[in-house]
Amino acid sequence: MVNRSLIIANQHYDDPAYPELPGAARDAAELQAVLADPDIAGFEVQVLRDGTAAQCRKAIETFFRGATGDDLLLLHISCHGQKDLHNRLYLVGTDTEKAYVASTGIDSTFISDQIEGSRSNKTVLMLDCCYSGAFSRGLRTRSAAESVDVREPFSGRGRVVITASTALQFSHESEAMSRAAAEPSVFTSAVVLGLRSGAADLDGDGWISIDDLYGYVHETVRRRAPNQTPTRSVASVQGALYLARNVAARPQHVPGDIREALRSKLPWQRIGALHELENLLGSWRPEVRDAARADLTALVSDPDPAVAKLAKQLWFSRGLGELPVEDERNLSRQPSVDRLRTRHAVGIDFGTTNSAIAVFVDDDVRVVLSAIGDRTMPSVAAVTENGNWIVGEEARRRATINPANTFSRVKLALGTEKRFRAFGRTYTPVGVAATILAELRSAAERFLGSTVRDVVITIPAHFDLIQREATVEAAALAGLNVMRLLNEPTAAALAYGANTETDQTLMVFDLGGGTLDVSVLEIGEGVVEVRASGGDNRLGGVDWDDRLVDHAVARFRGQHGIDLSTDQTAMARLREAAERAKIELSSRMSTEIVLPTICVGPDGPLDMELHITRAEFEELTRDLIDRCRTLIQRAVTDAYLTTAQLQQIALVGGATRMPAIVGLVEEITGRPPRREVIPDGVVLGATIQAGILRGHFKDTLLLDVSAATLGVADVNGRIVPIIERNTTAPTKRSMNFTTVVDDQRHIQVQLFEGESRLASRNRKVGVLELGGLTPQPRGAADIEVTVEMDVNRLVHMKVTDLESARTVHTSITLQSARAHEAARVNPAHAIVERPTDESESS
Ligand code: AMP
Repeated sequence: MVNRSLIIANQHYDDPAYPELPGAARDAAELQAVLADPDIAGFEVQVLRDGTAAQCRKAIETFFRGATGDDLLLLHISCHGQKDLHNRLYLVGTDTEKAYVASTGIDSTFISDQIEGSRSNKTVLMLDCCYSGAFSRGLRTRSAAESVDVREPFSGRGRVVITASTALQFSHESEAMSRAAAEPSVFTSAVVLGLRSGAADLDGDGWISIDDLYGYVHETVRRRAPNQTPTRSVASVQGALYLARNVAARPQHVPGDIREALRSKLPWQRIGALHELENLLGSWRPEVRDAARADLTALVSDPDPAVAKLAKQLWFSRGLGELPVEDERNLSRQPSVDRLRTRHAVGIDFGTTNSAIAVFVDDDVRVVLSAIGDRTMPSVAAVTENGNWIVGEEARRRATINPANTFSRVKLALGTEKRFRAFGRTYTPVGVAATILAELRSAAERFLGSTVRDVVITIPAHFDLIQREATVEAAALAGLNVMRLLNEPTAAALAYGANTETDQTLMVFDLGGGTLDVSVLEIGEGVVEVRASGGDNRLGGVDWDDRLVDHAVARFRGQHGIDLSTDQTAMARLREAAERAKIELSSRMSTEIVLPTICVGPDGPLDMELHITRAEFEELTRDLIDRCRTLIQRAVTDAYLTTAQLQQIALVGGATRMPAIVGLVEEITGRPPRREVIPDGVVLGATIQAGILRGHFKDTLLLDVSAATLGVADVNGRIVPIIERNTTAPTKRSMNFTTVVDDQRHIQVQLFEGESRLASRNRKVGVLELGGLTPQPRGAADIEVTVEMDVNRLVHMKVTDLESARTVHTSITLQSARAHEAARVNPAHAIVERPTDESESS
């Protein structure tokens, strides 16, 4: 299959009645350059400049006659167009005489006949000529006829005909600049620009289809020359027709032969390409995986149901999130510039206590204000009796009056069996998280005035597989597609200006409302590698609040003999007051907790009044600081470093504002920490990452490490590690196993996540079964188990019987992990590590 193009550009004319078209020559040169560019379109391009009518006819004839069935042919003609009295369209060669156009011009039906007579089913005809487009029946024309449609000469099979203007408009001539400043005409320059910049990739799939290009050109021309309307006169090509690659979207990461197969009109070739894509999705290079994913997106909506079905299966088996929504794809085909506006880079920091969403606009990151004007929104959702949701600040306030129906700390519950209950209904953590994410999404949509779909979401570096899956699932329920799950510390490092120029070792200490993340990052040669990530997802600012609450409750009990801890309303008020006091103690040496009528005692209402100093508060929370110290030291050790080797310590998370934390970090590392981006650091970084994926920034390659070991249980219930903790993701590792009993025909491979060498102490995340093994003595079979962790650290497993080359594979999903956790294992189907060849011979 070849992409071939013929460009005809007639600028000079013998007949003075045809004025010069100064843009035509440059049109041809620019279009030739962009079409021939192998990184963009890779066409074989032939150009005819200032051809006579006979030369033009000859060139067109030869062009179409030589075509094979698979060729994609693009004929672009830039010249005067003229109609005769019967509304028949002629294109003008240099020797065409205006008074005898029918005998000296190039008849449009001649071109149509050449297309019809060629073998190609994929022809694009672009006419940058006056009168070349369709015009509606009934409109008055310059000709005598009232109801003629110039689409007629062009109609036929396997083609798309796009014209610069409608019949009633001029194209070249109407563009003042085209004549006066000798610039390329509006239409062709829009074609060139759309292809060259990639801006014509309206659906953002990385490819510029003819539909994309037409949509883009239509809008661009209408904006620059409001009286000129490009028209798609005919569109009879089966399936999508891709002209070029979006250079801005990604470098060329899918090999040329696969790309060709992807565009093949034969479904079986596209299915073949699908299998190749499967391999590319497992590449260790994120850019290759992204490219393969973009191509898979196109196949998911393939016109052939069998191809689309297989593509969908691959999509789901790879855990690529929710499928692109049909409506969205239809929307993307509409020639609308609005569509471009929906492709903002959006980042979400989904926090335990507070969340934030930010967008990349005007070359900067803007944190979207919540409905009530705050930079963050409490990650709290309340449900009303009739099942309506209230989210954010209002829900947080309701916690005081309505604690039982108000759900907070939802992020900590993700991936657990915890259920939220209210009014006899039960809600999953994923469902509640989705309502919070949906609220963030709405805030961003209000801000942008357009839909938001693709986002980067941050997660704690130590989130396990199930928690990561749960995050993706919650996002999908909120109508969001997760482009990347980004480690919070990596996001923070980006926000603190991690760039491709400066190499450094950096610690990110992120103490939020409910989680502590301590990570050591090494940035070198444009790679940000999380050398180690630790922390505690049960340690956060609320623990400091709780200490104040406990202290106040104990005092109150001492003073009044009343236990407030059983009074939900009193406790909710007290928690709020304790948090306020904690925050005040970050900038003051003492504060009060004052709560009038906290309860009613035997002698009437009782108030709470508690004075507390910073020193007392720090004493109450000393053990929490000690836990932070231990976790910092552990992370440094895990990274095989000493604290002295840390060049920078970056603080993020609202609770790092506490002076005791700043003091602790200084004490351990001997350096003052960086604090400039508290508390927006994480959402800022998420949005920068989204900006990188959207091509707004030069790419900074971010490599994250696995948070926990992934291994397979052997016959003795021991774990054989496959991907060790702190391995850089994405990664793919294989190990060989074998059978444990003679004539074993069936194996069960169980994947666990966790650090214990005993399977029973780790979390089972997936099981794969393979039957039909050839009966042979135990230890003879050679079973390869491949575990792959993608860039989002989601996991896929493959088991292959190397003898028969039969393979089963699965993606670990929330459901699969849950289903397998308690599943009973048949000991007769166990496996054991296969000795390597060296150990066999030794
Ligand atoms: P984040 O999850 O990063 O928004 O952090 C929220 C936590 O930071 C909550 O526990 C807040 O109480 C706490 N926080 C916010 N501001 C301060 C402050 N000035 N001093 C101490 N803690 C704070």
